[in-house]
Amino acid sequence: MWELLQTHWRSGLEIFILSIFVYFILRFIRGTRGARVLMGLVTLLILLTFISQVFDLHTISWLLEHFFSFIVVALVVIFQPELRRALAEVGTQPLFFTSTHEREVVDVLVKSVMALSARKVGALIAVEREIGLRGVGEPGAVLDARLSQELLDQLFFPNSPLHDGGVVIQHNRVISAASIFPLTQRVDLPKSVGTRHRAALGLSEETDAVVVVVSEETGNISVACKGELHQQLDREKLRELLTRLLVGTTDATWLGKLQSLLSSGNS
Ligand code: ATP
Ligand code: MG
Repeated sequence: MWELLQTHWRSGLEIFILSIFVYFILRFIRGTRGARVLMGLVTLLILLTFISQVFDLHTISWLLEHFFSFIVVALVVIFQPELRRALAEVGTQPLFFTSTHEREVVDVLVKSVMALSARKVGALIAVEREIGLRGVGEPGAVLDARLSQELLDQLFFPNSPLHDGGVVIQHNRVISAASIFPLTQRVDLPKSVGTRHRAALGLSEETDAVVVVVSEETGNISVACKGELHQQLDREKLRELLTRLLVGTTDATWLGKLQSLLSSGNS
């Protein structure tokens, strides 16, 4: 038994490390455009390998073997947005005590978004996290203003010059308005998900931003993050989600309660 362990512990360790790796890869690409491409590619490869083995097709087997490195490069290109997001996330696990900026942003966002939703004013707000948003999409107007409910109200006021497009928040400042975000390429979305929501999803696929949407048609509130659209949020759900995504913990945990207490003491 001991000998068996001594000779095979390396394989065991390798299997363990690889499973963790595969698990995180699957978790990162879940629900993204890349996931479907990967599924297609894997199905194609399995099918080709099967056919070439069964019928003993040498050329296809040779091609499959030699094109493996090419496929790896192709995967890096296909998953470039996801990889960028994944790499940015490694090493940015929530710190024990985050600054009070994030809590302030959550407070302002919840208040503004609830008010905009009640009046059915359409809004699209991206909050930058680790990946800078300056190079993504097109900034309509470059600003540098302290975030406040009044400012967001002004920016999204119907027919105001900057009401179209999205607002970008960096720390607790609004850095651009009327910005154009990249649209998602997904084809499985219902018709009710229009371009505003597609822009939110698109940005959340390419970056680690948290994007809040208020629907002009229904007043519904959604949040896009990591290529996932959380829809029909009420005040509680919105606050819970934004706190988890931006502050890194929820008020339900003892750490969250402590942070909340500390930040309210500071402000
Ligand atoms: P709503 O529920 O508010 O109607 P929707 O998801 O149905 O939203 P549309 O009705 O197509 O989307 O909303 C159009 C608005 O979305 C535009 O006026 C513009 O403000 C915004 N928008 C559309 N495309 C983009 C984009 N690529 N980047 C930023 N904003 C966009
Ligand atoms: Mg619409």
